Amino acid sequence: MPDAAASFSSRLAGVRERIAKASLAVGRDPGTVRLIAVSKTQPTPAVRTAVAAGCGVLGENRAQELVAKAPDLADLAPRWVMIGPVQTNKARDVARWADEVQSVDRVELVDALERRCAQAERTLEVMVQVNTSREASKHGVADDAPAVIDLVRAIAERDRLSVRGLMTIGTLGGDEAETRRCFRALASLQARVRDAGIDGVAVDDLSMGMSGDLELAIAEGATTVRVGTALFGPRRLR
Ligand SMILES: *Cc1c(COP(=O)(O)O)cnc(C)c1O
Repeated sequence: MPDAAASFSSRLAGVRERIAKASLAVGRDPGTVRLIAVSKTQPTPAVRTAVAAGCGVLGENRAQELVAKAPDLADLAPRWVMIGPVQTNKARDVARWADEVQSVDRVELVDALERRCAQAERTLEVMVQVNTSREASKHGVADDAPAVIDLVRAIAERDRLSVRGLMTIGTLGGDEAETRRCFRALASLQARVRDAGIDGVAVDDLSMGMSGDLELAIAEGATTVRVGTALFGPRRLR
């Protein structure tokens, strides 16, 4: 096995071990946690190595980068997940290349994705991103049940979009209690959205937790974790 493949595989084994331990610690089946390999900034050969090692779900945070990489990896048919802010004028690229968008935060973007999906004859699974950390620098809908429910409803009404769940980025920087508060807030919003009883909407997926805080996220109910540096090593310069 070439070096790059061997070292990726050993980091992947480490991340899977962390997921398994964190799941078992709270009585959860590790198989209920989906791993997204966040490939942003990583060059195509590194991403190819990741998919070959078993990471079939990839996360990107910029539309330009998604458009640059996805065609090169089409032979491996990974699932592409958009996890970064999407400008409305990038909806076309995202509708064309992504399978899932976790960073939906406004009706205007919902409309643009619906229209572009119809043109491309594609469908998208969508998550509402919530700003649970309440930092102005973070994107996402306010941590407020009526606002989240309104947006979920708007997505559910579209033909080409389906609601997959909710996504958040916990406060970074090591204050465990604060990070945990963010993850709890997302889980409680999930319950509120379910209580709203929107037709055909399950909101089953909670995307929260990254390299530094995936254990806390799993303890609080994450069903998707988004892991970049723990899998690929440090981010590259773009
Ligand atoms: C970059 C990124 C990640 C991965 O972060 P790591 O700390 O490298 O694991 C997860 N989620 C989002 C939204 C990101 O932009």
